[in-house]
Amino acid sequence: MVERGSFTLGEEVDIFEKAYAEHCGSPHGIGVASGTDALFLPLKALGITGSVITTPYTFYATTASIVNAGCQPIFVDVRDDFNIDPEAIEAAITPDVECIMPVHWGGRPCNMTAITQIAKNHGLAVIEDAAQAFGSTWDGKSCGSWGNAGAFSLHPLKIVNGWLDAGVITTHEAALADKLRLLRNHGLRNRDTVEMWGYNSRIDTVEAVIAHHVLNKVDDILVARRAFAARLNDRLSGIDEIYTAPMPEEANSNFYLFTFLAQRRDELVAYLIQRGVECKIHYPVPIHRQPAAIAMWGEQSFPVAERCADETISLPIHEFLSMEDADFMADAVRSFYKGK
Ligand SMILES: *Cc1c(COP(=O)(O)O)cnc(C)c1O
Repeated sequence: MVERGSFTLGEEVDIFEKAYAEHCGSPHGIGVASGTDALFLPLKALGITGSVITTPYTFYATTASIVNAGCQPIFVDVRDDFNIDPEAIEAAITPDVECIMPVHWGGRPCNMTAITQIAKNHGLAVIEDAAQAFGSTWDGKSCGSWGNAGAFSLHPLKIVNGWLDAGVITTHEAALADKLRLLRNHGLRNRDTVEMWGYNSRIDTVEAVIAHHVLNKVDDILVARRAFAARLNDRLSGIDEIYTAPMPEEANSNFYLFTFLAQRRDELVAYLIQRGVECKIHYPVPIHRQPAAIAMWGEQSFPVAERCADETISLPIHEFLSMEDADFMADAVRSFYKGK
């Protein structure tokens, strides 16, 4: 790779893209510079210029991609499983709406049967934010493979990751894939022909090679995460002060996050951290309460998203933790509520 001078694109990237997309149940994969670009470029490629219905309970990049593509985000509330409420999507559709951008929060799949049906009924595009959802499926079909395009991230903190920033767009649509390949590389059809004005958003070849190594191990990683989550779920059951939304039968999560709602959340976080359990809050402030959002759209209220932000807690989860670690964490949560 280095000897051939292929630092960007080239054969390694082609091979990686194909393998990654295949794992995600899509025929086409387009490597780009970040997960954020993997959301932004499909909006551009699909020619979306109007409103995009999305969730206020997500990582900032979802909203930023919409705003930076020149579109208007329309937030609708989530359910107590942190994912966008399909009924609220339906209710928010106006003639300006062109696209739905659901987020598979923490790897928990959105109800894609409902969302794609709504999109079909109203002639809307669907771009899935699957940055946290590699390996998750809804009704046996991969997250990111339901809509026109799926956006994945290879950021070091994601499940299939590299050492650098990068992302992958997956799609079933050959013409869209072709356009995305042009857009990520200055619109160049070949070395000397610019077919459309594009961007510099290529994936680094080094990153594709590293992420491919992780991709080769990902099935084992997912098995370990799911086993760990099952153990935690089991050991946390019966604690009245916490609530974990049930997984629908169609949902198979990758457990990117292990998240639940907890009473006296801030006290619980402090208690667990004191005991060496590195819990986190993803995220304490919903998007519509961010200063950047208030400046553009004023005060908005999404009660479920706000409640999630106030009560959510994420326990550590990754493939290097043992069942004993799960038991230790669950015991710590239990003893907090017992006042011991
Ligand atoms: C990580 C993430 C992104 C952005 O991915 P980057 O590769 O960091 O640009 C977008 N949406 C969600 C939900 C994410 O978790």
